[in-house]
Parts: sequence; structure tokens; C-alpha cells
Amino acid sequence: MRVLMVASEAAPFAKTGGLADVAGSLPSALARLGCEVTLVLPAYREVFAKGLSVEPMGLEFEVSIGARNLPARVLQSRLPTGNVRVLLVANDECFDRPTLYGGAEDYPDNSERFIFFARAALEAAGRQGQPFDIIHCHDWQAGLVPAYQKLLYASWPALAPARTLMTIHNMAYQGLFWHWDMLLTGLDWRYFNWQQMEFYGQLNFLKAGLVFADAISTVSPTYAREIQREPGGCGLEGVLASRSDALSGIVNGIDTAIWDPRTDRSIPRNYSEDDFDVGKYAARVALAARLGHAAPDPRPLIALVGRLVEQKGIDLVIELLARMAGGGRARFMILGTGNPATEDALRRMAAAFPGTIDLVIGFDEGLAHLLLAAADIALVPSRYEPCGLTQLYAMRYGTIPVVRATGGLADTVVDASPAALGEGTASGFMFEPFNTAALDHAVSRALDAHADRPLWTGLVRQVMQRDWSWEASGRAYMQVYERMRARPPVPVR
Ligand code: ADP
Repeated sequence: MRVLMVASEAAPFAKTGGLADVAGSLPSALARLGCEVTLVLPAYREVFAKGLSVEPMGLEFEVSIGARNLPARVLQSRLPTGNVRVLLVANDECFDRPTLYGGAEDYPDNSERFIFFARAALEAAGRQGQPFDIIHCHDWQAGLVPAYQKLLYASWPALAPARTLMTIHNMAYQGLFWHWDMLLTGLDWRYFNWQQMEFYGQLNFLKAGLVFADAISTVSPTYAREIQREPGGCGLEGVLASRSDALSGIVNGIDTAIWDPRTDRSIPRNYSEDDFDVGKYAARVALAARLGHAAPDPRPLIALVGRLVEQKGIDLVIELLARMAGGGRARFMILGTGNPATEDALRRMAAAFPGTIDLVIGFDEGLAHLLLAAADIALVPSRYEPCGLTQLYAMRYGTIPVVRATGGLADTVVDASPAALGEGTASGFMFEPFNTAALDHAVSRALDAHADRPLWTGLVRQVMQRDWSWEASGRAYMQVYERMRARPPVPVR
């Protein structure tokens, strides 16, 4: 099966979050299952700063964006596994910038940039010869691809026969732009209506993807249910509910070539479930040195790695720190970047408890690995969480997650109730109501369990043995592809 995968970021080329991890590892998993996958990405400035092998392929063309024609140059590379071809579409005006999408404010021309990307991705792939069976699009940045495939590229032999799958990684990011940007898309105004591309007067890229794609998926079964009603659907619950027969939820896997304490080169000593205490202690020593501490703190270490935004429940964490940091039961470390007001609130908290809270504001992949290896407990108290990767990485590294029962967190973590501990299925501590008391209770349960060495050792060993690799999820995507191919494409209205 020939699959064209269109995403706005993929590790190791460019990354701001979990989408990059998925788009950088799912294609290789599909290739191992027999698919021939071509991944298309924007050629951001970041791509060239990483020393990856990226070569020109002599393919250039122009893409019309409204009244302008923008030049596109196509470069090629491969994913590190070697089994996936990567096409990178370059246009310096669009992608030679310091960050992928903007800073505190999005870039004002993001609609133009990702209209360009969607069209250039299809044109680059459409010039590659053999037809694709599946065009798999990720998030709003690739949201116009299904509409383009059906409306503008229906005569391209390599593109026309394909079925399109739209995967949602987060409903809160929809790509909303003012209605005049419809002129830039090159699509007819008649598609700008409440059932297709319009959303309360604005142009909505994700909605276009949900309406024009032949099938839709999201990154966990629970999130697939949550987005068909308020508030999870973020205004598109009606669109999703009306397509529930075409919607599936598949939990992300993790790339064990990158995330495995047995082989990870970002940690000082590799470890497995048999010697995790030695490996974790070595990581603790290295982390203390990195942070400028004389020696590691003997108290349990509670870590948080992630974007410091409302979704991630950082407000609860700040209240939790106010309650717990003075109590002396644990040490905390937070690694993240995001909302400036949240960063400031955390800075104030860290300054108030210098011997108990470490805060690193920034995006540092090596430090994320070291911290997840060093920690005992990882906090993921999200308001909502489509899948969540941090809890999967944490479990792989023998770090027990404390999570809120939502989305993919509910699907991947089993609360350590006495029954689950007895059956050997427990993997973390879960709380349900979104409030500090509930989080505090779950963290306290985790700390009590940590103090019971035989119980904790058993829990860590068990959690480290769980298989979160892409194999099963890759197969689930293959089944979705097969089902799509067996059905006619969704007709254009
Ligand atoms: P989301 O995609 O919503 O940001 P996920 O849990 O799915 O959340 O994925 C987050 C990914 O980004 C993980 O690989 C995590 O380790 C990484 N990450 C987030 N913030 C940072 C940071 N400040 N430094 C390093 N890695 C980070």
C-alpha cells in the first residue's frame, strides 16, 4: 500500500510537541508492516540546523496563493530508520523563520504558509509517479489537503485515486482565519458555508479536513468519544458526531529507538526493569550536577515535562506546589515552556522554595530524557489530553505517572487500586475531578506507595515491561486504511 503522509512537523526534522513524535515514528512502523510511505514536511530553518542529510532533488514549481505565485523547491531525506522517504518543501518566505508557528503570538500569515504547504505537498507528491492509495493528513496545518485532493487535484493520476484520512491530534487548534483568506485558498466561495469550511464567520482549516476527508481518526478511543460532545469538540462536536461512523480512535505508540532506558544515549547509565534503581540513581546524580546541586536530594522526585499551557493543568500544579512544597515529602522539577504568565507564576513558586522546586524554562529534549529517567513520579494533570506521550515515556523509564482520567490518559494508565495492584495491571495513579484536592490526593497516594519499597519495586518493574511500541497501533491504522480503500470516496457536495 502506498501512503502519503502530510504533517507540519516530525522528529527529528522539526518538533514542538507530540505531533512530531507521531509523524516521525508512525511512518516507519507502517513501513515495517509493508507500506511504502512518503512523508512530506515543510523545510523550516530548524531542519537545516540539525545536521541531517537533506539533499536537493531538482524539483521546483510554483504554487498559486490568491493572486501570487510562490516558488516551491523540493528537498529529500529519509527518516533515521531508513525505510521512509521524506520530501521537504522549501520556500524561504514561508519557512525560513526562527520558530515553526510563531512565538507568544502566531505568525500573522500562518494561513498563507499552510495553504502553501498543503498545495505544495500534494504537487510534490503528485509528481512522483505511481499513484498513492492513502493520503494521511495530520492536524489543521494539513487540513486543506483533503479538499484540495478532491477539488483541485482530481485530474492528477498520482493523487486522484487515493482515499484521505484526517487525524486530529488536538481539537483546540483548528487553524481559524478571517474569511477573506478564502481568496488565498483558490477554492470556490460556495464551500464557505456552515457545513463545510466556515465556522462562526471564520475560515476553519480543520473543519475543512473533517468534512472533505474520507475518514477521520484521533489519538485515543476516549478522546474520540469526548470530541463528539461539548466541551471536547471545541465547537466542532456536531461535525464529528455527524461523521461518527467514519471516526476511529487509535492510541499513539512510542519510538523505542529514541525512548528506551535500555539504549538511551541521553542518560548516564542504561537500565532495565532488573536494575532500574541503579540507573535511576545515576540519572539523579547527573541531573543534580546539571542543575548545580552538590548532591541529589534523597526525597522522591516528582517531574513535569510539557507545554506550560492551560490544557496541561499547570494551574493545578501551581496550587499543588503551594500546598506541598513546604511539607518536605518530595522534590519537584518542572521542564517546560509556554504561556508567559504561567512561566512567571512557576518562577515565583520556585523562588519561594529553592531547596524543593527546580524549574527549567525552555525546550530541551536531552534534559527531558534525563528528567524522566531520574524521576520517581511524573505529573500529567491535563484538563484534556488527546493521547499524551509523556505518561507513556515515563512508564517506559520506570517513572510512575499521576494522571487525570481524561482522553488518552484514561486509556493508557490503570489506577493502582488494591484490585489492580493485586492483578498486576496497575500502572499509575489517577484522579477525576479537575481540582487541586483531587490531584493532591493522587500524589499523596503515589508518595505513600513509594514509601512501601516492595510495592513500588513491583509496580515499577511491571510498568517498565508494558509494550507501547508502534506495532499494535500501526496495525490499527492499516485496518483503517483497508476499510477506507474498500469504500467509495465521500462525494463532494
Ligand atoms: P503535546 O503534544 O500536547 O505537547 P504530548 O505529551 O503528546 O503533548 O507530547 C509532548 C512531547 O513534547 C513529548 O515528547 C515531550 O517530552 C516533549 N516536550 C514538551 N515540552 C518539552 C520541553 N520543554 N522540553 C523537551 N521536551 C518537551
